[in-house]
Amino acid sequence: MAASEAYDLVIIGGGINGAGIARDAASRGINVLLLEMNDFASGTTSWSSRLIHGGLRYLEHGELSLVYESLQERARLLRTARHLVHRIRINVPIYTGGKRGMLLLRIGMLAYDLMSFGKPLGRHRMLDRRQFLANEPGVAEDGLRGGAQYFDAQVTFPERLVIENLAAARAYGADVLNYSRVTGIDVDGAKVRGVRYTDEQGGEHEVAARVVVNAAGPWVDHVLGTVNRPMPGLVGGTKGSHIVVGPFDGAPKDAFYVEAYIDTRPFFIIPWNGQYLIGTTDHRYRGDPSDATPSEAEIDYLLAETNRVFPRANLTRRDIHFAYAGVRPLPRQGKKAEGAITRRHIIRNHQRNALGLLSVIGGKLTTYWSLAEQVTDRVVKMLGVRAKACVTRQMFLPGALGTTAAEQMLAELGTVSEQGADRLLEVYGGRTRRILELAWEEPHLDRTLDPARTVLASEVAFAVRHEFARHLTDIVHRRTMLGLSPDLGESVAEAVADVAAGELGWDAATRARELEALRAWNARLRVPVS
Ligand code: FAD
Repeated sequence: MAASEAYDLVIIGGGINGAGIARDAASRGINVLLLEMNDFASGTTSWSSRLIHGGLRYLEHGELSLVYESLQERARLLRTARHLVHRIRINVPIYTGGKRGMLLLRIGMLAYDLMSFGKPLGRHRMLDRRQFLANEPGVAEDGLRGGAQYFDAQVTFPERLVIENLAAARAYGADVLNYSRVTGIDVDGAKVRGVRYTDEQGGEHEVAARVVVNAAGPWVDHVLGTVNRPMPGLVGGTKGSHIVVGPFDGAPKDAFYVEAYIDTRPFFIIPWNGQYLIGTTDHRYRGDPSDATPSEAEIDYLLAETNRVFPRANLTRRDIHFAYAGVRPLPRQGKKAEGAITRRHIIRNHQRNALGLLSVIGGKLTTYWSLAEQVTDRVVKMLGVRAKACVTRQMFLPGALGTTAAEQMLAELGTVSEQGADRLLEVYGGRTRRILELAWEEPHLDRTLDPARTVLASEVAFAVRHEFARHLTDIVHRRTMLGLSPDLGESVAEAVADVAAGELGWDAATRARELEALRAWNARLRVPVS
């Protein structure tokens, strides 16, 4: 339940945008409540390509200012979230008969470099056929003319980006609640008065709010449907799917950005989390975003296109570890082709019929921070307060600091293996220190949960005590990130459930239900082998 019954600002949605806004607003002294209907980061934010990028494709669609903004934001995240965001090299092959030729590619690369001016990650290189094959010998040779190599960035776990923003928001005094579904936005005399929400036990709550931000991603229109007066439809989502496979014969050492043969759309093949993330697709989607799953046709398309670029791969459904789909919360733009719909975010002020209500439409992971600043600037104006200027601008995320101390402690404590130490630092950065302190203070948590000694019992306690985890699936999929390994975290699930049971007071029946819920979540991610 919310700690207070009246807030300056209530944010609906705990994806990357809601979390970023909560952190920025709370840091300026605004009294914030964030409500998320499921777990934090369980929506679109989890189902993306996990790139922090300017977006070469946006260049093609003439969205120059978006590319420029994204490249500036990329530089900021590489610094302030350096434990989570890192540079990757991307290859772009060009084949005879493709829609995009070498000249267009060269122009695009030059423009990309120019726009990263002052924040470069390394300049692009144009490669002829021989050089390209020398670098990536597994790539299809037939019709290959050459290509380019450029740099962008990747966030392996955007889920952690969300959790750290929320942890920072809470440190500034924000209240953040998961499993709290907004069921009504109350408008009285054309002015927002507050929101109603239900908790997991079915409890109903009401809080007063001076400003409400609807950051519900693809659910923005569903949330607008809870306003007690007619509201416009704003979102026209498109579904994008990915498959995740293990290393394969001829697999590239760096990422690939390739034009698909079937429909000339570019898609990615990205080394990620010890596996390869392949996607995405782009199809209009009208259903409930919670029900979005990759279709058979999308899976076949991604397999066929990957096998075409890497002929020795011979990937089949059996090779897929898991697959997922997300709905892009794009602005409604009539009959425009999916790829041509703007990826720029829009902040809609509903002042005419619901003064005090803002909706966020669109936006990318990459630009969440600038979006958060823009929304908070507006909130400050609407509240008419003398809030501090944005202070998060160059501030590090909690895990970006203290990595060296964490490394030292890992060596001293010696509970986890070398592989485990790498894993902890990749997932938690400097926050690893706090996990180790817990292990130090409470000896029953100073043990590993897997034969390879990579997962610490104190991680589970940390997820519950300091990172808002309420269920086993939260811990496995969005805190420890074990759920994104090839076995979806199932080999360690029982052991994690044991520690979680102690932390959350589960009896045997609850523990069994939690394991069942995790299996059900995983079943949605698995691809049936037909
Ligand atoms: P979400 O993450 O969906 O969060 C909204 C939250 O609101 C959800 O958690 C939901 O549960 C909650 N909610 C809904 N209704 C209610 C309610 N009634 N009460 C309380 N809570 C509610 N961007 C990039 O920068 N790089 C990429 O590589 C990239 N790749 C992408 C690939 C795909 C296939 C897709 C779909 C998107 C991609 N994006 C990428 C875009 C990016 O992922 C999204 O724009 C971004 O994650 C949206 O975040 P959000 O917080 O607005 O939405």
